[in-house]
Amino acid sequence: MDCLFCKIINKEIPTEFLYEDDKVVAFNDIDPQAPIHFLIVPKEHIESNDDINDENSHIVSHVFQVAKKLAKENGLKSGYRIVNNCKEDGGQSVNHIHFHVLGGRQMLWPPG
Ligand code: IMP
Repeated sequence: MDCLFCKIINKEIPTEFLYEDDKVVAFNDIDPQAPIHFLIVPKEHIESNDDINDENSHIVSHVFQVAKKLAKENGLKSGYRIVNNCKEDGGQSVNHIHFHVLGGRQMLWPPG
């Protein structure tokens, strides 16, 4: 399967991980949109939020726990944003589910 994030997870593309466990990895976004911008990516190849189901949804709650831990470690005391872009209209560009964690500046609403 030709998936960029699977290649990163499998270390075929060298990437410094901020965090790794049996379910997820986290690494800095290559094109940061905030002073802190990293991605939390489940190791299982799930294409998008539309592919979350009873069998794999536990990964999502794990992602949010990891987000909290890494936000704290990165000094995001006053808050941060977690984003999942789902499919074309959601702005998803890599078809392997991932969660952006952005912080270090005031986030705006609504997003574009
Ligand atoms: P999406 O647009 O929500 O699918 O997010 C994909 C994200 O992956 C974008 O923010 C990209 O900047 C980021 N990205 C693409 N290639 C790489 C890479 O090789 N390393 C780290 N981040 C990447």
